[in-house]
Amino acid sequence: QTIGDFFDAMVARQPDRPALVSRHQGLRYSYRELQAQVDRLASALLGTGLRPGERIGIWSHNNAEWVLMQLATAKIGLILVNINPAYRTSEAEYALNKVGCRALVTMPGFKTSDYLAMLRELAPELADSQPGETGRLAARRLPLLRQVYWIDVAGLGPEQAGMQRFSQLLASGAADDPRVAEMQHGLASTDPINIQFTSGTTGFPKGATLTHRNILNNGFFIGECMKLTPEDRLCIPVPLYHCFGMVLGNLACLTHGSAIVYPNDGFDALATLEAVQAERCTGLHGVPTMFIAELDHPRFAEFDLSTLRTGIMAGTACPIEVMRRVVKDMHLSQITIAYGMTETSPVSCQSDTETPLERRVTTVGKVQPHLEIKIIDADTGETVPRGQTGEFCTRGYSVMHGYWGDEEKTREAIDAEGWMHTGDLATMDDQGYVNIVGRIKDMVIRGGENIYPREIEEFLYRHPGVQDVQVVGVPDEKYGEELCAWIIAKPGAELAEADVRAFCKGQIAHYKVPRYIRFVEAFPMTVTGKIQKFAIRDEMKQLLG
Ligand code: ATP
Ligand code: MG
Repeated sequence: QTIGDFFDAMVARQPDRPALVSRHQGLRYSYRELQAQVDRLASALLGTGLRPGERIGIWSHNNAEWVLMQLATAKIGLILVNINPAYRTSEAEYALNKVGCRALVTMPGFKTSDYLAMLRELAPELADSQPGETGRLAARRLPLLRQVYWIDVAGLGPEQAGMQRFSQLLASGAADDPRVAEMQHGLASTDPINIQFTSGTTGFPKGATLTHRNILNNGFFIGECMKLTPEDRLCIPVPLYHCFGMVLGNLACLTHGSAIVYPNDGFDALATLEAVQAERCTGLHGVPTMFIAELDHPRFAEFDLSTLRTGIMAGTACPIEVMRRVVKDMHLSQITIAYGMTETSPVSCQSDTETPLERRVTTVGKVQPHLEIKIIDADTGETVPRGQTGEFCTRGYSVMHGYWGDEEKTREAIDAEGWMHTGDLATMDDQGYVNIVGRIKDMVIRGGENIYPREIEEFLYRHPGVQDVQVVGVPDEKYGEELCAWIIAKPGAELAEADVRAFCKGQIAHYKVPRYIRFVEAFPMTVTGKIQKFAIRDEMKQLLG
């Protein structure tokens, strides 16, 4: 099936159930109302002349328009391109040109980001009242982009021919346009539907091309693991531009008839707690740093979170202590951990409610239905014995179509037998539970000894004065690499280097005690809340000369 067909079938089954609450916009749609908006938008997009297979970008924080775009483009076979809202001009230029976007939906401004100003700089011809000036055309930095639509959620934008209001676009469509149904019936489940850029945790983001089959199935099985039903209301503070919001959030809900709740446009711990209480949410998603911010919020105790049951913690290593706290203090007794990557739609492994809590907080669960996984020695390609560390590989419906416009990188990632090589290090126990040990690129080799920074982070995290910690390897003449820990102390905690060293003494092997310890206020992050270890490494390299 395609996403459009699956969605329409769900609407037919339960037209009046709640589908979407966008709290910062004051919007509430039932499934039937959401469908009417989606069909109208699909008709409007066809009216602009865009045709199946063409790319349209979305460069925006979370809002209702985002899910309308996700469903409307899927209905008529346009390829939606998720553009990271943290991108600035040169990154947006690269991404939009890389995949050849013809149109772009954005918002005028958000906090310090002025998206329209950036676009005026990149594509002055779109903001020009007299388009067609030859001098301007010569300087085009976005030669393929013809039209920008801005969502009037956060301030006003210009009224120029090339930069229109999104609401005007929407109004130009009809909810019962027969051309939409016709397009929808012509689509195949293997058609590309979405290009998502990876987080850029290890370097430059790569555009993973995904099909209906990829993400619809993945969204469905994620929802199954969470046991979602039409009674569930899932709070989604994670960004929609990333697969976490778009697949683990939106698609898991829409394939189970559950309601989507957006607490805010960008992440805000207080708005999230308020949304859970006010909407009586039964589920909550987040990366570990989001859950930490909610748990540590000074007003945390004021909120009634007793309706919560399930949710997903994912995106990066999930510290055991944080898992224990969300189970105990947020009532998330059925919370699951998911592991995956953008290139695999994204989830490969997930714990479920049957997984005993101890296993749930210490592993990423088992392989999802209908997928294969293996853990190999990256040098020989041989599967390693159970319990041993190797590279995690997966094969099945979830593996991406490829990196857009980059056959070489695609061939490096997906081998001739269809296995996706993830670059992640993992172990699998004799019952099939998988543990992610770290990334191949993050592994530190100190004096010939393999060290997994994750293990040391877990250890230091147990110190009562430590709020968050990151461990990386930095070059060293004598040992090849040395360990370095960046620590964020708990508010009010008086933490010094000597305390940390004393804490390690006799508890972990001497070579695992970080040589360098630095106290910081924050870590360099991607907008999804993922920590960019390469940026920590770069800064340390500079500091150490
Ligand atoms: P880039 O590929 O651009 O460097 P990225 O790999 O961080 O960025 P994503 O696709 O968003 O981009 O993230 C996937 C990666 O996140 C996985 O390869 C894995 O390293 C990490 N990850 C995801 N979930 C988990 C988890 N539950 N535990 C540990 N690591 C995880
Ligand atoms: Mg990656």
